[in-house]
Amino acid sequence: MTTTARTGVGDPAEPGPRLLLGAPIAADIRSAVEADVVVFREMYGRAPGLAVVICGRDAPSLVYLERILKGCAQVGIDGRFVEIDGEATEESVTARIREQNDDPSVDGIIVQMPLPSGIRLRAVIDAIDPAKDIDGIHPLNAGLLRLGYDGFLPATAHAAVEILRRSDIPIAGRDAVVIGRSPVVGMPAAHLLVREDATVTVCHSKTHDLAGHVRRADIVVVAAGRPGLVTGEMLKPGAVVVDVGINVVNDRLVGDVDFESASRIASAITPVPGGVGPLTNALLLNHVMRAAHARAQASAGDDQP
Ligand code: NAP
Repeated sequence: MTTTARTGVGDPAEPGPRLLLGAPIAADIRSAVEADVVVFREMYGRAPGLAVVICGRDAPSLVYLERILKGCAQVGIDGRFVEIDGEATEESVTARIREQNDDPSVDGIIVQMPLPSGIRLRAVIDAIDPAKDIDGIHPLNAGLLRLGYDGFLPATAHAAVEILRRSDIPIAGRDAVVIGRSPVVGMPAAHLLVREDATVTVCHSKTHDLAGHVRRADIVVVAAGRPGLVTGEMLKPGAVVVDVGINVVNDRLVGDVDFESASRIASAITPVPGGVGPLTNALLLNHVMRAAHARAQASAGDDQP
């Protein structure tokens, strides 16, 4: 049986769950950023800048990183690749990151992930100036999130919760299950949901009875990188499902949720592609603007007598 899903708020008479689409929300965020860039340029006489540090052009994440730079160009942010020529060593990567830290025209820094083998993630993360860490991977920003302060959020986790907020899905008081506990997606998404007053359970590969936890949840955020991990039979009727997973199966992009069966049970669901992904990119641009304003204001303060 084919299940149809309603787009946006949609017509309640249509069958299927409400489809939570990232693109319209992303378009709103991008146009706000574009207007903000104009104001920023007038105030400070330069464009906000994003440096994307890459180790050669054959990185598996290059398509994703190119899309970020395209997004920068669309809104007027000066996005550029900082390419490490020759053999990428830990020293060469951290040295290029420090150059970006010291460059006043750079407001945000992203580093290609996954890193080439032999380069310690922790060494790279520690090298990034937390004030330019627009994807929230530095321990300072992770700590700020954990303590409930405003640091930079990992964009994907931010997108997973922002798609609920901007779709007017109630979060406060709801039971939420996050599947995945990675420092870049699962855990920050869980902290953000707690911040939104949800009651949150974090599940992972050692969780006993995943289906039992999922069945109790009003909101299910899935970030495991396992296609088909969550099926409709596991869901509570009317649950809201946010599928963060990105997997390629038989040359097709799919999430971690079996969309077909989940659509029969969920009240709202994000598609893959087209759900969390587009929002992630737009939020990164929003984070660059935030960093740019904060840095420009801080340096204006430094100039005060
Ligand atoms: P990750 O670092 O590999 O973490 C995966 C998490 O899922 C781990 O905590 C793991 O548990 C858990 N897990 C794995 N198999 C499981 C199972 N059978 N049952 C329950 N939990 C299980 O991945 P990630 O970086 O967080 O990314 C997660 C997914 O999001 C991937 O598909 C990735 O491609 C996608 N992603 C999407 C975007 C976007 O913009 N939409 C951005 C980034 C990533 P353990 O901790 O016990 O190992």
